[in-house]
Amino acid sequence: MRDLDQAFQNFFAGRAGYPKPRRKFVNDALRFPSSRVGAIAVLNAKWARVRLPKIGAVKFRYTRPIRGAVGNVTVVREANGWHIAFSCAFEHETPVNDNPPVGIDRGIVNTFALATGEMHAMPPSNLNDRHKQWQRTAARRKSRSKRQAKARRHAARIAAKAARQRLHWQHVTTTRIAKRFGAAVLEDLKIRNMSASAKGTVEEPGKNVARKAGLNRSILAAAWYRFELLLTYKLAFRGGTVVKVDPRYTSVTCSKCGSRDKANRENQAKFLCLSCGHADHADVNAAVNILLAGTRPSAASETSGGSRGLERAA
Ligand SMILES: [Zn+2]
Repeated sequence: MRDLDQAFQNFFAGRAGYPKPRRKFVNDALRFPSSRVGAIAVLNAKWARVRLPKIGAVKFRYTRPIRGAVGNVTVVREANGWHIAFSCAFEHETPVNDNPPVGIDRGIVNTFALATGEMHAMPPSNLNDRHKQWQRTAARRKSRSKRQAKARRHAARIAAKAARQRLHWQHVTTTRIAKRFGAAVLEDLKIRNMSASAKGTVEEPGKNVARKAGLNRSILAAAWYRFELLLTYKLAFRGGTVVKVDPRYTSVTCSKCGSRDKANRENQAKFLCLSCGHADHADVNAAVNILLAGTRPSAASETSGGSRGLERAA
């Protein structure tokens, strides 16, 4: 009821569309307030048990210790099984962070480029072929048959695994960055607009239709957004911050002399300044510009976290 109420409030406030009814196998998620959830019994090193209202005792894989006071408990069905997540509130002393800041450019070829010159590309999934095969099998099989449903389940399970692999990579990358740096400067990207529609808006009718189209692009947009979310809380936990700057001209400005010229960027990868001759990888040059924009006094808007951390255990 609480989630439904929130959904209607979001709808009336114009933040979201009209709430859709829950559908089996499509959006199987339910949330219990902590007051209705029983105590968590740790059975052994791997398993624990919790009593959920109307359901009873539920055993779950105890992947990490649950700290502090348990808030909402969420149960979700994904293609690869059921998951349970406990939101926990605990006191956390935020350490003083005197690590240096870093600029990060988010791109297509290199998912992330750091101002230090490092480039990280999200590794392509090794599961794409198998996923496609099962989708083809499903298309071939008799419509609405049990065998078609089975093939669809196979495909969905593989897609869920690929999504988990991407999330894992994002966690590893953001943790590394959060440990080394005190502030991360990012471009203030309107990611929602980027992934939403290729058709364009009234102001900008579909200029980049071809470039925006494609599953890969929407995956990247999701990765960028996720990256920002993860980095924000991981830095806040360590006393750092995420700073967002205006993304305009970061890719065509020289990070050495400040000359702004479209011709500076020779191609996707190469940056060569026409006034001072500074040469660098285009993404790294952009990352340095982003860092400069973020560390310049004024201009930047900060998003920081409080000292009270939220941790999810699953
Ligand atoms: Zn220059």
